[in-house]
Amino acid sequence: MKKELQELVDKGEMLPLMEEFYTIQGEGYHKGTAAYFIRLGGCDVGCHWCDVKESWDANLHPPTATKNIVENAKKYSDTIVITGGEPLMWDMSELTSQLKGKGMQVHIETSGAYKLTGTWDWICLSPKKLKLPTQEVYDKAHELKVIVYNKDDFRFAEAQAAKVNENCILYLQPEWSKRDKVVPEIVDYVMANPKWKVSLQTHKYLNIP
Ligand code: SF4
Repeated sequence: MKKELQELVDKGEMLPLMEEFYTIQGEGYHKGTAAYFIRLGGCDVGCHWCDVKESWDANLHPPTATKNIVENAKKYSDTIVITGGEPLMWDMSELTSQLKGKGMQVHIETSGAYKLTGTWDWICLSPKKLKLPTQEVYDKAHELKVIVYNKDDFRFAEAQAAKVNENCILYLQPEWSKRDKVVPEIVDYVMANPKWKVSLQTHKYLNIP
């Protein structure tokens, strides 16, 4: 990438936009809510079950002017979800300040593995074993969403729940390819441990993005 372009990306004035789409938030606390999703490229966490592996290499996703991303988003919704990839690989200050300047509610879906930048109305922390969150994200997360792929993920979920703030809402969500096996285990676990709630990828059942 050219030096001038890299400087704009470093300042968050351009971002590697992978895709953007207006849909229904399928997961977690805001499920069922219409929202405009902005998916940024770049992630080095390396989850083997990741369903957006094409997001990993930021070089495949062209740097796009943040102000253009914001102008476009405003046409669709007042609720914006920034996702990835791992959006906190980039400085989110400029993007969130422009979105909030236009009166939008700004949410993030993050593994929390990088420094928290930006101003957020809602932080969904989905921690990953391979690269744990920073303390600041644990402290500020509004919801903790742990993906359950196998039984060890219940142990991991409890370890993560011990680190988040006391108001954080706790969700267990089946990894999609394992849902037939894992959903009954999650149901039993939540009934035995009711501080947790079940989150499903309802957009996949609705067959929408
Ligand atoms: S953190 Fe998210 S985008 Fe990155 S590899 Fe894991 S599931 Fe995929």
